[in-house]
Amino acid sequence: MRLLVTGGAGFIGSHYVRTLLRGGYPGFEHARVTVLDKLSYAGNRDNLPFSHPRMEFVRGDVCDLDFLREVFPGHDAVVHFAAESHVDRSVESAAEFVRTNVGGTQSVLDACLEAGIPRMVHISTDEVYGSIDEGAWTESWPLAPNSPYAASKAGSDMMARAYWRTHGLDVSITRCSNNYGPHQHPEKVIPLFVTRLIRGERVPLYGDGRNVREWLHVDDHCAAVQLVLTKGRAGEIYNVGGGNALTNVELTERLLRLVGADWSMVRRSPDRKGHDLRYALDDSKIREELGYRPRVPLEQGLADTVTWYRDNPYWWKP
Ligand code: NAD
Repeated sequence: MRLLVTGGAGFIGSHYVRTLLRGGYPGFEHARVTVLDKLSYAGNRDNLPFSHPRMEFVRGDVCDLDFLREVFPGHDAVVHFAAESHVDRSVESAAEFVRTNVGGTQSVLDACLEAGIPRMVHISTDEVYGSIDEGAWTESWPLAPNSPYAASKAGSDMMARAYWRTHGLDVSITRCSNNYGPHQHPEKVIPLFVTRLIRGERVPLYGDGRNVREWLHVDDHCAAVQLVLTKGRAGEIYNVGGGNALTNVELTERLLRLVGADWSMVRRSPDRKGHDLRYALDDSKIREELGYRPRVPLEQGLADTVTWYRDNPYWWKP
């Protein structure tokens, strides 16, 4: 078994690769993995075990089809994590999001098709559904993305679906809630808050902090990706929920407690433009069809994450 993982130097992709190489996915203990990553500001070489005998790293851009044509042949599956992933950056400037997330995904799909790759998983997000006041999204919910990031991910999902429908490519799509865990870039809210609080700096809370997000430990997300890779059906979408819904105020409260700080360390910041109020996923499909169960309790996962950032300043201080 030879896997190709795009975006494998980023937060979630590298967790997937490290777990795979540790033998964390039954049946894949001997799998070899090629990590393909541009090493954008979000990619980090320190996320990967470069000397591992079963890993090969190639630096390159998913938008470069000629490059993908050289690298893809000979792989048994592609797991496509590579993306521009930070909503705030997409509000500032959307072009790179369309280029990488839509154009890059289309190139990855083309390369899979041309190289005859038997299986692909495309990693997407719950943000494609927009915002929901009550209830929870199923996979058949209409897409109503609100940020340029979410719109570009929705575009990539549509492209993946079209390659399945038009060309018969064996591709499944996952749509996951917010991830947290070690090795997440400090631009994202949990590592941003934790690293600032560790340094004794105040943290910015958007608007009134009533926005609700579901939190999922990266290890549970990656386990879901592996389930979809091995058991998911072609052309199908699988929501991956965390089951841990918190307002941003509640999340901040927990992080303050874990770091040993109080509300004097929080400053209110003007709300993000177009900030979605509430995300909620119905993930009964992946639970019932593939046997998915998230295992990391939020309290434990957050505590371990705070400990990791405390113990690894070399990783985030630069
Ligand atoms: P990340 O920003 O930490 O990592 C992205 C990786 O992709 C980086 O290593 C970067 O160098 C690489 N990359 C960017 N542009 C590239 C290009 N043009 N060519 C090759 N590599 C490129 O992101 P993440 O949080 O690990 O997210 C991974 C995937 O999961 C993304 O598709 C994202 O949309 C999705 N997702 C993330 C979350 C979350 O909470 N972080 C939730 C749901 C879905």
